[in-house]
Amino acid sequence: MDCLFCNIVAGKIPSTKVYEDELVYAFKDINPQAPVHVLVIPKEHIASAAAITEENSAVVAHVFEVVPKIAKELGLENGFRVVTNSGDDGAQTVKHLHFHILGGRPLQGQMG
Ligand code: AMP
Ligand code: ZN
Repeated sequence: MDCLFCNIVAGKIPSTKVYEDELVYAFKDINPQAPVHVLVIPKEHIASAAAITEENSAVVAHVFEVVPKIAKELGLENGFRVVTNSGDDGAQTVKHLHFHILGGRPLQGQMG
């Protein structure tokens, strides 16, 4: 499949791994918007938040179980933001569900 993040999960495209288990993979964003900017993705291809269903939502729950572990590991005790962009109006550029973890500085309150 011609999906950038599936290729990252498969190791065909290099990435800087932050966390991995059987269901999810986390790596540093190549164009960081904050001192800490990590992407957490399901290994399974899900196109976006709009494609989450009763059948595949367990992996999304698992993403949110590992987010606090990753945040702690990266020293984000003072807080962080988790965001997912979905579809064209959501400014999603990679069509494989991913959750941005942003932190390491006070973030703006606005959401776009
Ligand atoms: P979004 O705009 O929400 O779809 O986010 C896609 C994110 O993927 C952007 O923040 C990009 O900087 C990031 N990105 C694109 N290609 C790579 C890559 N090869 N390795 C790491 N991050 C990437
Ligand atoms: Zn994919």
